[in-house]
Amino acid sequence: MTNKNKSIGILGGGISGLSAAYKLSSENYAVTVYEKEKQVGGAIKTYHQDEWLVEEGPNTLMVKSKEVWELLEELNLTDSSIEAGKTAKKRFIVKNDRPIPLPMSLGSFLITNLFSARAKFRLLKEPFVSQSNNEDESIADFITRRLGREPLDYAVNPFVSGIYAGDPKTLSVKHTFASLWNMEQQYGSLLKGMFKSDRNNNSKSSLLSFNKGNQQLPIAIANVLDKKVQTNTEIQSVVKNGDKWTVKGQQNNQPFKDEHDIIISTLPAHSLPAIFDDSIFKPLNNLPYAPLSVVALGFYDKQIEHPLNGFGMLIPEAEKRKTLGVLFSSSLFPGRAPENHQLLTCFIGGARNPELAGKQKQELQEIVLSEIRELLDITGEPVFSHHRFWPKTIPQYEVGYDKFLNQIAEIEKQEKGLFIEGNFRGGVSVPDCILSGFKTAKKAHTFLNGQ
Ligand SMILES: Cc1cc2nc3c(=O)[nH]c(=O)nc-3n(C[C@H](O)[C@H](O)[C@H](O)COP(=O)(O)OP(=O)(O)OC[C@H]3O[C@@H](n4cnc5c(N)ncnc54)[C@H](O)[C@@H]3O)c2cc1C
Repeated sequence: MTNKNKSIGILGGGISGLSAAYKLSSENYAVTVYEKEKQVGGAIKTYHQDEWLVEEGPNTLMVKSKEVWELLEELNLTDSSIEAGKTAKKRFIVKNDRPIPLPMSLGSFLITNLFSARAKFRLLKEPFVSQSNNEDESIADFITRRLGREPLDYAVNPFVSGIYAGDPKTLSVKHTFASLWNMEQQYGSLLKGMFKSDRNNNSKSSLLSFNKGNQQLPIAIANVLDKKVQTNTEIQSVVKNGDKWTVKGQQNNQPFKDEHDIIISTLPAHSLPAIFDDSIFKPLNNLPYAPLSVVALGFYDKQIEHPLNGFGMLIPEAEKRKTLGVLFSSSLFPGRAPENHQLLTCFIGGARNPELAGKQKQELQEIVLSEIRELLDITGEPVFSHHRFWPKTIPQYEVGYDKFLNQIAEIEKQEKGLFIEGNFRGGVSVPDCILSGFKTAKKAHTFLNGQ
């Protein structure tokens, strides 16, 4: 039997599913991707209006791994990829009602007023803090123990909101900031670890987007897969019948049914119990996802006094504001706003204020504007606005997440021929999801060839 005769159903046309499909299709498997929406991309969504380009989902892709660089080359995307300018290295953190640059060198760290003299002195003690014996720890406990309270409040807390829309008191450091956890495990100290890993780090890394926005990436993969991607197709049930898996659902509002040798699911964890209708899937409902709203606001240059010379501005919880952060989108990449205009992308809700995320556009716009007006010295009203609500965005890898991973492994052991992946397993970033997709494709290939 050749690979062509082996049929693989892939549930979900986000970046995880498309990456797995891309690899398996290049090995000549008969792949079908089922995506309920009209367009592929899942969380990667780019909105265009006149000359405005808004990322409703990810704004930047941190590409480090060889496999992801190779994928971009194979898709002929390197020419349309754009690297964030040098200015993106500068990030502002709000303290006492002003955006302050996060120090990026020892010299700027010593003179910054983001941290008190006491907090700076406390950092010097970090190499002497003893290692924890805990198997897992929250980010807040880990950082306070190693670095003290101020770095948690004014460096880590805002970044956790920016990356995970999450709460450092509940997220697992081992699963979200694995490099920090590993530095403690390996070197007994973060400062020692940073010094050593800086010297060993030779990999090429870039912060990227594409000139038509990030959705260009999933669209490029779907174009290669062509008819193997079936959009407007919602999967409602998946059942094993003998050696085959039967998928059923609605395609263009008509019932449909297909059969496959194996299934790769990349659907959100919480949707699996209803689709697979077996009690073993029930615990997957327990993985929390944070709700988040993205509010994009456009202004004339002259309306904003702040030079917007950076990646953006993060707002720590300790500052008691509602907005989580603001990306200076038109400073990051060209082509985000018409000439003489600026685009700001603001985030609100998350694990910090989940009740706010689902509010109406007008209310959110007023909240965000009232807060960033004074921080960035903005006058007048925005000339453009766009809103996107994500009821369940980013899975929260909380302390105890190992139990969840074990549960997935147990399901895969019992349900032969079913592979489960997605941003709730193996990392939430787009490059992590691509690598997870590739890894799952490899597992599926091994399974099919070992049969
Ligand atoms: C606001 C926001 C900002 C982000 N910022 C960044 C960033 O700057 N950098 C970064 O690297 N990452 C970022 N991320 C994270 C990253 O975008 C996601 O983790 C990643 O895109 C998830 O991909 P996925 O394929 O695993 O899941 P998804 O994109 O959720 O894909 C799952 C797919 O399954 C489909 N589906 C669901 N149910 C069914 C069904 N029953 N039948 C058929 N199809 C179904 C969905 O429509 C969806 O297309 C951000 C995410 C969000 C939401």
